[in-house]
Amino acid sequence: MPRLRPILVIPGWTLLLLLGTLGAAGLFLIDAGALPPPEPRPVPFRVLIDPGHGGIDSGCHWGDLLEKEITLDLALELKNRLEAQQVPALLGRATDRDLDPLEPTVRGRHLRDLQARVKLAREVGAAILVSLHVNAASSDHLSGAMVFYQPHLPESRRLAAHIQAELERVLPGNQNGILPGDFYLLRHVPYPTVLVEAGFLTSSTDREQLASPGGRQAIAEAIAAGIVAYHAGRATPPVLERPTLTAAAEWRRPPDHGEEGRCSP
Ligand SMILES: [Zn+2]
Repeated sequence: MPRLRPILVIPGWTLLLLLGTLGAAGLFLIDAGALPPPEPRPVPFRVLIDPGHGGIDSGCHWGDLLEKEITLDLALELKNRLEAQQVPALLGRATDRDLDPLEPTVRGRHLRDLQARVKLAREVGAAILVSLHVNAASSDHLSGAMVFYQPHLPESRRLAAHIQAELERVLPGNQNGILPGDFYLLRHVPYPTVLVEAGFLTSSTDREQLASPGGRQAIAEAIAAGIVAYHAGRATPPVLERPTLTAAAEWRRPPDHGEEGRCSP
């Protein structure tokens, strides 16, 4: 009986190697035939409104007129006006509270509060953040609106210019302008963010506006109009660009304690 000789002897380990190679090639073919990965979906245009200060932190004050209460009222008015124009808006706080209990491990109440605001901004996934404040200065001659932007984000500057252009109509003061800002919120929120200083509590004309419900509604209306213009993709309007605060010789913050209008952003 003739001996049958195997044509090819495949040791077990070679077979495994061969099957493995074919498997990998199969995966490659499947992958090559698959659709390209989808484009990252754009974040829906939602506005996060951050009413500055709150709770134990009153911000600036003039008598019993407190920055934290003005910013909350402006925020509620702004939210209503945006939503009336089909622009969804979220509030960083809707009551008189500070956010520092949200970051219990961080040292320093002010830093805890700011870190909690940044964390919130990252978590809610808004398209832009508008932080609301009012100003105070050692001189009662300074008045008007200022909007600070993130110098590293051109869209932040465009947003600031649109809000500023509208605000100047209702707060026609001598300090009107936009500025690059070096504040914690502007440094750490990873999408277009602006810090609005809606007038000076230390200016009698601005204060009259800020103290009246009608005046605050006009300010909120202006900020909403600026956001809507930004969202519509309009070009940056011409507004005065100011140097940073540290370079502005005429602009001095009042002492931190003991004076009317003390304030920190
Ligand atoms: Zn402030």
